[in-house]
Amino acid sequence: MTVRTRVAPSPTGDPHVGTAYIALFNRCFARQFGGQFILRIEDTDQTRSTDASEQTILDSLRWLGLEWDEGPDVGGPHAPYRQSERGDLYRRHAEQLVEDGHAFKCYRSAEELDVLRAQLKERGENRALKPQDLELDAAEQARRAEAGAPYVIRMRVPVDGRCAIQDMLRGEVELDWALVDAQILLKSDGMPTYHLANVVDDHLMEISHVIRGEEWLNSAPKHKLLYQYFGWEMPQLCHMPLLRNPDKSKLSKRKNPTSINFYRRMGYLPEALVNYLGRMGWSMPDERERFSLDEMQAAFDIQRVSLGGPVFDVEKLSWLNGQWLRELSDEQFLQALMGWAFNREYVMSVLPHIKQRVETLSDVVDRAGFCFSGLPAITEADFEHARYPAEDMKVWLQFYLWACEARRDWQRDGLFADAKTLADALDVKIKDFLFPVFVAVAGTSASFSVVDSMELLGADLSRARLRHAVEVLGGVSKKQTKKLEKEFSSLFQQTD
Ligand code: GLU
Repeated sequence: MTVRTRVAPSPTGDPHVGTAYIALFNRCFARQFGGQFILRIEDTDQTRSTDASEQTILDSLRWLGLEWDEGPDVGGPHAPYRQSERGDLYRRHAEQLVEDGHAFKCYRSAEELDVLRAQLKERGENRALKPQDLELDAAEQARRAEAGAPYVIRMRVPVDGRCAIQDMLRGEVELDWALVDAQILLKSDGMPTYHLANVVDDHLMEISHVIRGEEWLNSAPKHKLLYQYFGWEMPQLCHMPLLRNPDKSKLSKRKNPTSINFYRRMGYLPEALVNYLGRMGWSMPDERERFSLDEMQAAFDIQRVSLGGPVFDVEKLSWLNGQWLRELSDEQFLQALMGWAFNREYVMSVLPHIKQRVETLSDVVDRAGFCFSGLPAITEADFEHARYPAEDMKVWLQFYLWACEARRDWQRDGLFADAKTLADALDVKIKDFLFPVFVAVAGTSASFSVVDSMELLGADLSRARLRHAVEVLGGVSKKQTKKLEKEFSSLFQQTD
């Protein structure tokens, strides 16, 4: 058997370190057996998927050196590798299941579903909605079909009993069918859900081992049943432990930067980030801390993955990055620096902003230093303002950060428009509103236009600086966040 593995990101946001982690283990596993590693784009969620996100995912995985053998950009025998281009295939397979009696058309409206769920709850039944709850009698079904009512296709699932799943790391895991709902396979717009598209593609792309995040373990019974319905052999399953914040909660951007671009922009070496991800739940047989991708591949054994939640700790990553930097020759160090920010393209994009503000070349360091650094060394004192207390400014920064997190295009005009919308809504002069943004981003209010700075620095580093400033000002508690979120949604609407 040829070993074929895949990573299947959904292009709905920034390229996540978790995607790189899963890609790394899939790639090492495939390489260990001389097999192939495939990249598939799961963009069936048309409202959230974007081309820009897909591009940054491909770029960052490539930056990390995690190239794939088949994928949307390099092609391969099972093209297309983008699910949005495979729509007919899923539709045909869903219809096949309906014909065979393994799935059914469901005409229930959202309101009806709410009622059905409420009834289950009233009866004290702790289970998911099942086909028998959902199916209409033949006459009603025909009436709705006649009227052209929208419908989805759902799969039939057992009412109760246990489903045994073989997991490469966990052995046999038993899951309860009562908790598995009559999963939607095809949505009313004709697009497949993750479950249908994923199973159809893994089969057609001849994937032999599915190595993915632990969060998908609960979906395994549905997938197993789909393989049975289609009469296909199921790939082997392996659910990797989730990356965690230092407090053990699931890795989230609120507590840790999660975008690969952030680490790139901060000046981490790709080798160090891959090395660190390789240490998430895995270790070299000789337990050494520093190893390259090639070394990891050569020594790879998936059974060395341990299931305790691996903690992604930026401080440890920085330490490891330091080790990698120290190993570089001066020449290699210089190359790394040039690749990072000391290159023609980047310096040329900074120059126009400072040219009018310098008297000697050496002033450049003062004026533009923040364009070549990570998080500025700021303290609460830097936010001192004649009229507004730091507490107010912290709230503005938090609001602006949320606006920036929602922003898709990262250009000065949009960034300014968001600031202006918030300043107006808060009844604050734009100059005052931008004061703490200047301090957060440039470390001082005496700098060139802050929205230009943010465009230059890019979304990830700018957001990280805003987040850092909120922390410097004491941070926002969970309780306060809830309150502020409400206020924010009543104040702010993005205009583009
Ligand atoms: N598109 C899914 C994700 O974004 C893939 C899960 C899987 O590997 O099956 O995580």
